[in-house]
Amino acid sequence: MSLEKKEYIKYGNYDILFDKYTIILNYNNNNLKYIIDNNYYNYKQFSKMKFSNTNKLFFKFDFSEKYLELSEADYIMQIIKKTKKIVKKNKINIGITEEGKTIVANIIRGKSDYELNIITAIGVFLCNDYKKKCEFVYDEICNYLDEKVVNRNVCGFENNKCIAKRNKNCSTGCCNHFKNKYFGVLYQRKLYPCKYLIDKRCTAKCLTCKMHMCDYIIKKTGIKFTTKNILPLKYYFNPIQKFILKVEYFTPRDKTLKKLMFFDF
Ligand code: SF4
Ligand code: SF4
Repeated sequence: MSLEKKEYIKYGNYDILFDKYTIILNYNNNNLKYIIDNNYYNYKQFSKMKFSNTNKLFFKFDFSEKYLELSEADYIMQIIKKTKKIVKKNKINIGITEEGKTIVANIIRGKSDYELNIITAIGVFLCNDYKKKCEFVYDEICNYLDEKVVNRNVCGFENNKCIAKRNKNCSTGCCNHFKNKYFGVLYQRKLYPCKYLIDKRCTAKCLTCKMHMCDYIIKKTGIKFTTKNILPLKYYFNPIQKFILKVEYFTPRDKTLKKLMFFDF
């Protein structure tokens, strides 16, 4: 599912009638508050409240007024993650029902890519078990990186040659490796195209490769992905899982996911 086409989210101005049991996590103009029955609460107050299973949670986010910076997005991710724990503990329902469909959020988009990370965090609420959550977050990060890099042709591919290797006899970008994938760089010279590169496309959906930016691109564009600035990676994987995602180059999605799930604790 594309980042923008989730059925449980309504985008743009959308009128919804909330009853007194609805907890709205509301964000606009750098202000994040919980609204219940027209009263406003911060996280500290919200975390001390008692709830029943008649309560339901809804997200209302308006990013159109102010550009969402990384630090602000990071804060929102923290609050959403803490809210998930409270929701689980108190068996609070997620979303409201309209015409037989559950709607979880109303989002007015702005211009920041970090909004996509918040949308991912909302989606996590609908993952009923760890496997689903892990797969969802992994796929969302892949989509996010594709949106930022592939869709905008950051690598400047022209005639199958990327900008960093334009003058070299290489049409595979950085989808090459030494015979020994991990230590070959120390003693081998010959590079081989990755076996997952088929018809000039990666068939592995390898998140680690997607995070990789060569020195040329980092210097030219300032784009560098880390476990700190990809917020779903920062918030939904533990240190061992982060390490796996840092080193698992040339590895298909399902193989990496198996390892990530093995180290879930
Ligand atoms: S990261 Fe660098 S080497 Fe790899 S495809 Fe992009 S421009 Fe080419
Ligand atoms: S797994 Fe990595 S190196 Fe192989 S094709 Fe995909 S992106 Fe390229």
